[in-house]
Amino acid sequence: MLKGKTALITGSTSGIGLGIALSLARQGANIVLNGFGDVTSPKAQVAAHGVQVIHHGADMTKPAEIADMFAVATATFGGVDILVNNAGIQHVANVEDFPVEKWDAIIAINLSSAFHTTRLAIPAMRAKNWGRVINLASVHGLVGSAQKSAYVAAKHGIVGFSKVVALETATTGVTVNTICPGWVLTPLVQKQIDDRAVRDGVSVEEAGRGLLGDKQPSQQFVTPEQLGELAVFLCSPAGDNVRGVAWNMDGGWAAQ
Ligand code: NAD
Repeated sequence: MLKGKTALITGSTSGIGLGIALSLARQGANIVLNGFGDVTSPKAQVAAHGVQVIHHGADMTKPAEIADMFAVATATFGGVDILVNNAGIQHVANVEDFPVEKWDAIIAINLSSAFHTTRLAIPAMRAKNWGRVINLASVHGLVGSAQKSAYVAAKHGIVGFSKVVALETATTGVTVNTICPGWVLTPLVQKQIDDRAVRDGVSVEEAGRGLLGDKQPSQQFVTPEQLGELAVFLCSPAGDNVRGVAWNMDGGWAAQ
């Protein structure tokens, strides 16, 4: 379905971003990976789907590096048809204890980077009259949780940002939407489970069950594969008129 298209997914060396990259590759899209850490294994997993794949290590806090990533993607594949703004970090602390540099980093990576990528992606998408921008917010784009001020502010921000760009492109073939996952078992959440196990003096397994029990009625983690298939749907012709939505896949979290 996506043969001949190019998808750029920020923060796709791990977790949800890698899951979405693999789902889009399975549909035939060429892939621009981004993110830190091991690159060899993610590239090999994508290439196994018979598509072309490159990695660019742009730091999402640095607009000049983001611009270079777009220049490389355009030089390699002729443009970016599907942009997935996924890179994100977390820090947990009460607001009065929240380190200023953590606040700045979370706003830069989880929110401002989507502005920089989107402003660079939209002109070529408009020119082709086809494009998809998919922003990874969180259920924390819809509701709050204590000790996550920067994350919740950034995620509510990206939901609003998506609505605005969706309106600006509403008469074109470019759609802009947000996906809002509940708990997904990735390194970002594993750290919170490990911290909880230490805090409560329980096993990691018990801490994981406690985390789900607090918020996620399904008592199951959402998976990167499920989120990848939602991204595929948004890229399909059936998604042509899905515009400006914040679509949660959260095991019932926001229904409470
Ligand atoms: P993860 O830690 O597994 O992956 C994060 C990715 O972002 C990695 O590839 C990492 O290298 C990259 N990254 C981090 N800082 C970066 C930077 N400065 N520049 C470029 N890349 C950077 O996390 P994840 O759980 O897969 O999270 C992905 C997205 O999904 C995030 O936006 C997160 O907020 C969101 N999300 C996660 C959950 C969850 O439960 N895991 C729930 C809702 C939303």
